[in-house]
Amino acid sequence: MAEAVVDLSAVRDNVRTFRRLVPQGIVAVVKADAFGHGAVPVARAAVEAGATWLGVARAEEALQLRAAGLTAPILTWLYDAAELMLLGDVDVDVSVSTVAELQRVVSNPSVRRVQLKLDTGLHRSGSPPDRWVELTRAAAHCEALGAVTVRGIWSHLSHGVSPDAAQSTQQLQLLRAGVALARRAGLRPSVVHLANSAGAITLDAPDCELVRIGAGLYGIDELGIGLRPAMRLMTKLTQVRRIRAGEGVSYGHDFVAERDTTVALVPLGYADGIPRIVSGQASVLCRGVRMPVIGRIAMDQFVVDAGDLPVEPGEPVTLFGDGSRGEPTCADWAEWAGTIPHEVYCGIGTRVPRRYEEAAR
Ligand SMILES: *Cc1c(COP(=O)(O)O)cnc(C)c1O
Repeated sequence: MAEAVVDLSAVRDNVRTFRRLVPQGIVAVVKADAFGHGAVPVARAAVEAGATWLGVARAEEALQLRAAGLTAPILTWLYDAAELMLLGDVDVDVSVSTVAELQRVVSNPSVRRVQLKLDTGLHRSGSPPDRWVELTRAAAHCEALGAVTVRGIWSHLSHGVSPDAAQSTQQLQLLRAGVALARRAGLRPSVVHLANSAGAITLDAPDCELVRIGAGLYGIDELGIGLRPAMRLMTKLTQVRRIRAGEGVSYGHDFVAERDTTVALVPLGYADGIPRIVSGQASVLCRGVRMPVIGRIAMDQFVVDAGDLPVEPGEPVTLFGDGSRGEPTCADWAEWAGTIPHEVYCGIGTRVPRRYEEAAR
């Protein structure tokens, strides 16, 4: 009944927008099944549009891309020992933050390339600055033995979105200092990278070879650079009924009709990622008009107020899209839910099939 339609031409356009605006090579970040959009189709589209690298959080996600035949270099930054074993011979760059991790990686003969991560201020992962010299020396030693190649050095911004220029600049300076120390230890990394989508636009770092673009691929346009939302979430009305003034709708009757009205059932609920908290704020597009979501959102369904429109079961409903037809956007849903579009996209559940299309533009 429901489907998430992913417009791969929007993904390509978004990659091209970044290519126009930034000099660095693009790592398409397709973690979490490409923020719910589907890792393999999105990765293919991003590479077609000129992304030169792929980035994923988990080793399993890297394996999925290789199994689908993607040959671009891949960086993965979250894995455990068992997942490292799984990586087999698929040639994936593994992020390393500590000497212990380095030893674990080196003892796994299938991993050939690592990228050393320096903590420049996010304080989540990466080598603490006071352990960096030790890590780079150990890595240079492993490299000299032929055990591994250090292909990159990288870090992650703490204020990438709400660009705190001073913080980002300081992190860039710390990364540059880290690269200098690594070179002194004998390392010759071919890629250095720091910025995410927003940082790619705001941070001037000509000495970095790559930027890691996640949100921007999907059209989450944090800085208003003209990105296109790639996903449209649609379904069909399944039931329609007339209720009288004074009658309540859904559990607990949080909504009570002030006048006679037509209400219609939308077969998506919080199990599909519709945030329960948006009731009373959200609306959907049906017959070209916005219909408010009324009453509590249930696990599998919610109700909208169609007023006096003669809607019928089977009529298409758009929950969100790029806004061009008057429908809400994912950013609207995120605002109603008090969260960010990333979380809404990632939450769209497995009961909602993804369908891929190429919009005619
Ligand atoms: C998710 C992620 C990104 C992408 O960030 P966006 O803000 O979505 O572009 C980049 N780097 C790392 C390490 C990440 O975890």
